[in-house]
Amino acid sequence: MLTMHPPCILEPMKIEKSECVIKSYSFDATGIVFEPEGVVFAESEKDVIDTVRHCLKTKTPVIPRGAGSGFTGGSLPVKGGILLSLERLNRIIDIDTKNMVAEVEAGVVTGELRKSVESFGFYYPPDPSSLEFSTIGGNIAENAGGPRAVKYGVTGDYVLGIKAVLGTAEVIDTTKRLKKNVVGYNLTPLFVGSEGTLGVITRALLKIIPKPETRRLILSYFPELTEAGKAVTEIMASGIKPSALEIMDRASVECVKRYKGFSIPQNTEAILLIEVDGTKEEVRKYAREIVKILKAHSAKTKTARNEKEEEEVWALRRAISPSLLHIAPTKINEDVVVPVDKMAQALDAFRKIGKLYGVPVVCFGHAGDGNIHVNVMTDEKDERLFERAKKAVREIFIATVALGGSLSGEHGIGITKEKFLPIQVKKEEIHLWRRIKKAFDPENIINPGKMGLI
Ligand SMILES: Cc1cc2nc3c(=O)[nH]c(=O)nc-3n(C[C@H](O)[C@H](O)[C@H](O)COP(=O)(O)OP(=O)(O)OC[C@H]3O[C@@H](n4cnc5c(N)ncnc54)[C@H](O)[C@@H]3O)c2cc1C
Repeated sequence: MLTMHPPCILEPMKIEKSECVIKSYSFDATGIVFEPEGVVFAESEKDVIDTVRHCLKTKTPVIPRGAGSGFTGGSLPVKGGILLSLERLNRIIDIDTKNMVAEVEAGVVTGELRKSVESFGFYYPPDPSSLEFSTIGGNIAENAGGPRAVKYGVTGDYVLGIKAVLGTAEVIDTTKRLKKNVVGYNLTPLFVGSEGTLGVITRALLKIIPKPETRRLILSYFPELTEAGKAVTEIMASGIKPSALEIMDRASVECVKRYKGFSIPQNTEAILLIEVDGTKEEVRKYAREIVKILKAHSAKTKTARNEKEEEEVWALRRAISPSLLHIAPTKINEDVVVPVDKMAQALDAFRKIGKLYGVPVVCFGHAGDGNIHVNVMTDEKDERLFERAKKAVREIFIATVALGGSLSGEHGIGITKEKFLPIQVKKEEIHLWRRIKKAFDPENIINPGKMGLI
């Protein structure tokens, strides 16, 4: 459904221009700084429409922003303009257990939605590590995933419909609570992973599922990283669907140990963290089979005994990225993805690239779906080291694509990965992206200068 609204110009006082606001909204999780001309805190769909109308009239870029936790500069005003914050558009409109959907405004924090849904005995699985602060709008725009994507999929698998304001200030609404709907082009998935370049999402209709009865978490310690990679491939081929399968290499474990205090067996080169869920009987059976596979690959195993222990392990996993920042504040953090059967090869290749360029490379991430967080540990102040690190990053991308992989499994392209796009995507395809954007945003005012889109 497409709606036109009567002309309306944003009242000037709704654009915040104080130095404090401008500075606070001039960066995201990359730490890169671009100051906006002003910030609008939308409290209704009408505020969004008015802002887009104002920007159309004044030919000013408008940049949608959720929590600003993106890792690729997606919400930075690289071409100036108005930052449109959705954080106050944060109502959970409805949790409809009969149709198994939740309807929410774009600025709802993911963890808040999860808690609400769980209070009804349901489950919203997408679980980016940033779930305590990132928003549903940002999650949709980046197609965010997390540890449980290996079994339950990523945000896009739960987006049934959206309401969005296009670059023309028209509104599209695809939020029908239907199981089937075959009427013309399906516009909903186009917004998933679009990095805020097609329109401003104001509302989302999300699928929810019954909450699993129980779960179990197994920790395993490997003397060889490649053995951990092989165990991952074997578990994934065994027919068991773990609800999480995370890997940490030795360097990442060492970092967390220093930061948090955590004891592991001597000679541990890699840790796998495996979670299974389902009925009590299923969980017992899956855990038994997984431990057998792990032991066949020389791993020592330990099972969390209660929810408290489980949460401690997850907290450790979530602490990796921040703990690395303590050691290398300007580390380069990439999130490549490779076919699951190429995990061991990829980890080996990244380690060799690190050695070749003389920069430590720390790997951890979602092994079960081949999504590896590769951290090239560097220091911007050391020019020579930083140059070598940048070369290592390019080599990592080349090796990834050569293995049939992709530049990003979660964080998107934004501005930080634009220059690497040609390694993976043909220019004809990028031209097609530009034509699609033009149909939604003919004046190129919505988040310009991202994703190779000009
Ligand atoms: C500590 C930490 C851990 C993280 N862990 C994960 C992880 O496990 N998995 C993962 O996938 N990501 C992770 N991230 C990255 C980040 O949290 C995700 O990309 C998240 O989806 C961004 O949401 P946000 O609300 O912060 O969006 P922002 O950073 O504000 O914006 C991100 C992009 O979405 C667009 N956007 C935001 N809201 C809208 C809207 N309403 N309509 C249209 N476009 C919009 C912006 O223009 C921008 O291009 C992590 C980040 C941090 C800091």
